[in-house]
Amino acid sequence: MPMQSTPRRLLRYLKPYTGAFFLALGCTVIFGASEGGIPFILKQILDGVFLEKDETLLAWLPVVIIGFALFRALFDFLQSFLLARLGHLIVKDIRNEMDEKILMLSPAYFVKERGGDLLSKVTNDVVLIRSLLTDSVSAVIRDSIRVLVLLSVAFYLDALLAGIAFFAFPLAVYPVTRFAKRVRKLARRGQDGVGNLSSLLQQTILGSKVVQIFGREQFEHERYRAENDRLTGDFVQSEKIRSFTGPLNEVTGSIAIVGVIVYGGYSVIEGVRSQGEFIAFLTTLFLMYEPFKKLTKVFNAAQQGLSAADRIFELLDAPIEITEKARPLALPQGRDIEFRGVSFSYEPNKDPALREIHCTLPEGERTALVGFSGAGKSTFVDLVPRFIDPGEGAVLLGGVDLRELSLRELRSQIAMVSQQTFLFHDTIFNNIAYGKPDATQDEVREAAEHAFALSFIEALPAGFETEVGEGGLTLSGGERQRIAIARAILKDAPILILDEATASLDNQAEREVQSALERLERERTSLVIAHRLSTVQSADRILVFEKGRLAESGKHEELLDRSGLYAQLYRLQFQESKESTETLCEEPSAVMSRVS
Ligand code: ADP
Repeated sequence: MPMQSTPRRLLRYLKPYTGAFFLALGCTVIFGASEGGIPFILKQILDGVFLEKDETLLAWLPVVIIGFALFRALFDFLQSFLLARLGHLIVKDIRNEMDEKILMLSPAYFVKERGGDLLSKVTNDVVLIRSLLTDSVSAVIRDSIRVLVLLSVAFYLDALLAGIAFFAFPLAVYPVTRFAKRVRKLARRGQDGVGNLSSLLQQTILGSKVVQIFGREQFEHERYRAENDRLTGDFVQSEKIRSFTGPLNEVTGSIAIVGVIVYGGYSVIEGVRSQGEFIAFLTTLFLMYEPFKKLTKVFNAAQQGLSAADRIFELLDAPIEITEKARPLALPQGRDIEFRGVSFSYEPNKDPALREIHCTLPEGERTALVGFSGAGKSTFVDLVPRFIDPGEGAVLLGGVDLRELSLRELRSQIAMVSQQTFLFHDTIFNNIAYGKPDATQDEVREAAEHAFALSFIEALPAGFETEVGEGGLTLSGGERQRIAIARAILKDAPILILDEATASLDNQAEREVQSALERLERERTSLVIAHRLSTVQSADRILVFEKGRLAESGKHEELLDRSGLYAQLYRLQFQESKESTETLCEEPSAVMSRVS
């Protein structure tokens, strides 16, 4: 993104708060401008009280000074509070926008992007933007007003001296602008580094068992340490530049002050200037020093915020692959699902995961998908709720292309239970009611009962109110799966997608869940990625996938008669089941080695 557009784009976020912004700006202007009064008051004190010995002036001075201080304090408070509040409000909007965007992105996006880096955008980068908006923007407005006002006062008090003092100004500004670009680049590297670090950490947390059992703690730590070193190096480098600008200004500032004191001192000695005039002028210079220094510092700090904004805008600008028509068609009556010449590739130069699939899954029937692992079964089912869209061809529901329907309505028709069940860090009740937030106690209970989950839930100390921990990790795999099944049962959608949904249940639980699922599947169009012979045998049709193609389809007996891939799979299965393993989808290598 070009450098210019980032600040402009950030300014757009001010729009909803224009009123508040101008109010804050007004207070800032008043506060900044009032600083110009200080040299005048000082001049009055020095010349009036000390030189002319004016007693009434002395009597009024406390009132004026305290009044002035109160006035400035009020506007100081207002400007700093109002601007800081504004910064938080804008960051809130950006955060919400990011969350909305993340919710719209297809699951495929999160396969490519690392979760840790995304999280760091939402947590870390957004804080940098806030400090850009609150500290930097307010400092720029306030301090440039202060500098401008004091500058005018200086010229008003003594144009010649002011001219000498500001000879040094360009000297001070030049290096700052030179450094800014480099600071921004370093800041960007630093923020990417923070993203990398959190992503590494997230992996070692999620994969802690893998790390420990394979004894890779050292490797993981080296990897983390290397990234951490790189990151720290970048930070240190940018701190060096930032710390350098302050002292540099100090030196150029001292040159200006030396010039003023030497020349001004002589003119006071010679009686050309009064002491009051000269000290008022010097005070103006000293007063100007602080906001000026802040301004040059802010310049560098702002680069960090800007590069954080770049990272955030990358997320906000990520293309939404799964889009909806402006005027979606109404859901059709029929629930037949048709694949019409569907091909799909995850990446342009990779072999397609699906090639020219033609098939119809009639309403109310159960279709079992079988084939070796990697054959394309999950890709096939992901097309139905539009987690992905076909590269070629179309998927139709009741004769209507899915892309013509509203996403929300389409997905309301589908319940899905996959192998990796996901539970939210919430109560069991809320996890089951996730797809139907207004579900009653009885409905949730009934769903749990049909999923054969009721007995274990009731045995828990808090029952349905038990918190399941992040990802449901306080429950066993089988328990998690039954909760996920209850969630699908409660949704009561006409289309059901089961991805090996009973994989982690023990025999007893599996039998129970199996019959619950069979009851659930009745009257529904269901797609089951099936491992179990019983599921396959009783299916209305079986689709056999091989390397992305639909190799065979038909009923169990028909396919057996054909003596093709299915028959081969079945024979393997038949032999295996004597050894009490019931698997139809296996790694080709594993199966082949057993055949030979
Ligand atoms: P199955 O469900 O039959 O095991 P999949 O549909 O998961 O097969 O995978 C089909 C092919 O697509 C495989 O070659 C797999 O490596 C590839 N694949 C699956 N998901 C992705 C992804 N997110 N990005 C790239 N390739 C993928």
